[in-house]
Amino acid sequence: MTTEPTNDAAPTEDNAPDNDTADGWGFATRAIHVGQEPEPVTGAVTVPVFQTSTFAQEGVGKHKGYEYARTGNPTRTALERALASLEEAQAGVAFASGLAAEDAILRMLSPGQHVLMGNDAYGGTFRLISTVFAKAGIGWSAHDLTDLSTLEDNWPADTAMVWVETPTNPLLTVVDIAAIAEIAHRHDALLVVDNTFASPYLQTPLRYGADIVVHSTTKYIGGHSDVVGGFVATDSSDIETHLRYIANAVGAIGGPWDAYLTLRGAKTLALRMDRHCENAAAVVELLQGHDAVHTVLYPGLESHPGHAVAARQMRGYGGMVSFQANGGQAAATAITESTKLFTLAESLGAVESLIEHPGVMTHASAAGSPLEVPADLVRLSVGVEDTADIIADLTQALNRSS
Ligand code: PLP
Repeated sequence: MTTEPTNDAAPTEDNAPDNDTADGWGFATRAIHVGQEPEPVTGAVTVPVFQTSTFAQEGVGKHKGYEYARTGNPTRTALERALASLEEAQAGVAFASGLAAEDAILRMLSPGQHVLMGNDAYGGTFRLISTVFAKAGIGWSAHDLTDLSTLEDNWPADTAMVWVETPTNPLLTVVDIAAIAEIAHRHDALLVVDNTFASPYLQTPLRYGADIVVHSTTKYIGGHSDVVGGFVATDSSDIETHLRYIANAVGAIGGPWDAYLTLRGAKTLALRMDRHCENAAAVVELLQGHDAVHTVLYPGLESHPGHAVAARQMRGYGGMVSFQANGGQAAATAITESTKLFTLAESLGAVESLIEHPGVMTHASAAGSPLEVPADLVRLSVGVEDTADIIADLTQALNRSS
């Protein structure tokens, strides 16, 4: 079995970005134009930052679609329209953070109902479900979502929602969205897919049967480490109504500058993702041949257990690469502290390369739980810098520990 990264997740007839939109536009065009028509009063080509908390009304209850900026703001509307188009969704609602978006989705559940989640997920998602929602009477359990027959045999009663990340943070496990959607729907449960790691450029889960797609737009969609945000996409008007109700009633909405920055980032998502994928493939090749590394986790590797599924449902394998270091936690820590170009920091998906130790940093809240991550794990968010510089920096850091 070859272990070289492959490019067989290139768009195929089945998974190519959907150009059958009202305008017939491709992904990059929609990212730049949908929801972003020139502003009608001044002709401004870029959507303005509508820095206002309220909107004048012509008469009592007679307004132009906006009353109060918690309920709606035109900069936020532009962002919502653009991102819904990228996810090939009927509708989308923007929130102040990825976790605020997740919170709004989880509020669809009632006490006594159950969330079935993967046993490998972002630590903050696990914390939200296992502490905040558990306290409100929502049950939860964590399963290996790649083992579908065991999942069926152990299906928890009252499961109303299945929560999938694919690829997962930080182990880059790939879950078969279409297969999980079929099982979830047979049990009358909704399927939520966290698409943060792939971005809509590489994966559109609604097409494979997901009911809800959630993003931390802080990551690839924003893409510049300068704004925190969240987004939910759906084809269901009932779910959209719920999300808008929660956004307004709870108020975890982002401000107009956040929407503006996120929209500006989204315009170049296609360009950036192609470069992230190219650089990640080069990094994987380096790691595979290095003595300091014993296992490389990347869906683009033919040896990755989820490779075939990834090749089917993704259009590229992304910019996230994890690996396990020879020499345990001490070696993993030494590598993460030795890079010069890669910044030691949490978060991911932006133009600059980042390195982190998930066990101590992003996933510390999962310690002792079924979601605990290996102590020798290092996670890389491979940026869009020159490939040679990325490789040189990682090489010197790995050489120090081998
Ligand atoms: N989902 C994933 C996969 C994440 O990695 C993160 C944050 O790292 C979140 C959700 C939460 O997003 P935010 O930090 O924007 O609240």
